[in-house]
Amino acid sequence: MTAQLIDGKLIAQQVRDEVAATVAKRVAAGKSKPTLATVLVGDRPDSAAYVRSKGKACEELGMGSVSHHLPADISQEELEKLIKSLNDDKTVNGILVQLPLPSHLNEERVLQLISIEKDVDGFSPINIGRLAQKGREPLFVPCTPYGCIYLLEKSGVKIEGANAVVLGRSNIVGMPAALLLIGKNATVTVCHSRTKDLPAVVRQADILIAAIGKTEMVRGDWIKPGAAVIDVGINSVPDATKKSGQRLVGDVNFNEAKEVAGFITPVPGGVGPMTIAMLMKNTLRAAEIQDK
Ligand code: NDP
Repeated sequence: MTAQLIDGKLIAQQVRDEVAATVAKRVAAGKSKPTLATVLVGDRPDSAAYVRSKGKACEELGMGSVSHHLPADISQEELEKLIKSLNDDKTVNGILVQLPLPSHLNEERVLQLISIEKDVDGFSPINIGRLAQKGREPLFVPCTPYGCIYLLEKSGVKIEGANAVVLGRSNIVGMPAALLLIGKNATVTVCHSRTKDLPAVVRQADILIAAIGKTEMVRGDWIKPGAAVIDVGINSVPDATKKSGQRLVGDVNFNEAKEVAGFITPVPGGVGPMTIAMLMKNTLRAAEIQDK
């Protein structure tokens, strides 16, 4: 292996330790416990597991959490009523609506309703709009892309002036990751399902962020020697040697890419643990903003 492994588990733990220490200081000084409200609609097992792990992280870091579990057939009106009451609730600092919502609900309207000061997922149009505008700062950066950039910076990868290629243009990962890289003065190419000759575009990348959800699609010979590779993809493949009968792999063929890249994140243990760590950082920030 020639690439330096970017240990997301370790870096996420460092972020969590820093957040926990700041929370403990706040509470000792008589300030409120930063508190996250999670909203889960329906019974998707993956969404329920994400919400549980967010609540558990709050507890581990000395923060508060309240969870709202709503039936899958809840009306738009009732969901909006809950969001408004959480906006007004002074004991709640951050509001996280677990996506995706059931298809009868208008996700955009729900996200728009979250108070910008409590938008710890960073998905409200105001936060994303600020991220996209020169000279403006969002109050919160979406957690997964924030984690990607944090991993690059912690690993000493120079972003300014780099050619960065982002695979994927989703609202939650690809697009905000591209905007963050532009804000840090990288030259950014965003690729998607209609991009022609993807390997040739990827070969130009000093920094590659892969977020397409396609099992090990990026091959070793697509990678520019020495590039920094951040693999956001989470895909499960059958594996008879595992008790569960499956294992997780990324969007990048790790075994091939690690022989060419300069830096690489593993899956699991790369970007995954960063997402919740950055959510905790954002929730603490929300409490600090609301102190003022
Ligand atoms: P989406 O499905 O919302 O977006 C996928 C993007 O990839 C789209 O822009 C799509 O293009 C593009 N794409 C799909 N197929 C191809 C292809 N063959 N070539 C080029 N581009 C392609 O996914 P998400 O952004 O939500 O997630 C991406 C991956 O990241 C998933 O594996 C997901 O599980 C993982 N993830 C991991 C997180 C973590 O914490 N580590 C958090 C969130 C997601 P188009 O726009 O044209 O359709």
